[in-house]
Amino acid sequence: MPDPPIVIAHRGASAYLPEHTLEAKALAHAMGADFIEQDLVLSRDDEIVVIHDIYLETVTNVANLFPGRNREDGHYYVIDFDWAELRQLDAHQRMDPETGRAVYPDRHPPEGATFHLHRLGDELELIQELNRAKGKRVGVYPEIKNPSFHRGEGRDISKRVLSVLNAHGYKDKNDLCYLQCFDPVELKRIRTEYHSRLKLVQLISGNLWREAEFDPSNLGKTVLQIAQYADGIGPPLGPSDTSEDEDDYLHWISLTKLAHDRGLVVHPYTFKKEMLPEGSNLVTFTANFLKRTGVDGFFTDFPDLGAESVRSVRDQP
Ligand code: CA
Repeated sequence: MPDPPIVIAHRGASAYLPEHTLEAKALAHAMGADFIEQDLVLSRDDEIVVIHDIYLETVTNVANLFPGRNREDGHYYVIDFDWAELRQLDAHQRMDPETGRAVYPDRHPPEGATFHLHRLGDELELIQELNRAKGKRVGVYPEIKNPSFHRGEGRDISKRVLSVLNAHGYKDKNDLCYLQCFDPVELKRIRTEYHSRLKLVQLISGNLWREAEFDPSNLGKTVLQIAQYADGIGPPLGPSDTSEDEDDYLHWISLTKLAHDRGLVVHPYTFKKEMLPEGSNLVTFTANFLKRTGVDGFFTDFPDLGAESVRSVRDQP
């Protein structure tokens, strides 16, 4: 029997509490996530902040607290602030900068309770403490954000992240950690220059089999290249994947087979209610997807429903 697919809590239990807050991570742990995700950006004083964007304004009150600290492009960059400043910010549900409204109106309201940012080390300690308290083995799934931006600012984010992971006991393939990045040059560097023995996942933007840059006839070659340095791939769900069109499943089935033949795991992102047509059920959709494609895990904003999907596949005859 192959291992059941792993549930990766995307930015924590982000459907229920503001993304990348410690509260959202604790909730994900309680809801049965197998792994919890951390997106990582450096502060001015080299602390590793858990936040999705290199900017602050879509998920914090930075514009109110530090007016005028934006760059010419209007953005407030994490890297322009020290941790002593960042920790003063209130964190909230993601806002759309165009409309000033919550991106997901049905989720936790931005004007609700107060939350804060935290650092990678804070979160690793929380997860390890919860594991100890509950007798669980929930893993971590850190993502190095925009390494080329960091390099342009004279920083080496990967080196910092590897050092903090190492200090918390995440060192090799047996440890409960997948390190992910969209940048293939950086991920290769992590393997070949820093000699990291962690499990590495190559994230893929766009659709591996639909985008011009990845000619479907080259899919096998792409997978082979990734297998030289990584342990898995993270391909995105496309809008048409929710149509339950048989052809879309065929693409996923062939990609998963190619990856498995090269020893790579497949962890697609991101399963959420909001992507489904009105009236669809996320558990039914996810369970069908898992059963038909044979992927090894998946990112979801709803770790409770993710765990329910895995259970429903397991319990089916
Ligand atoms: Ca991410």
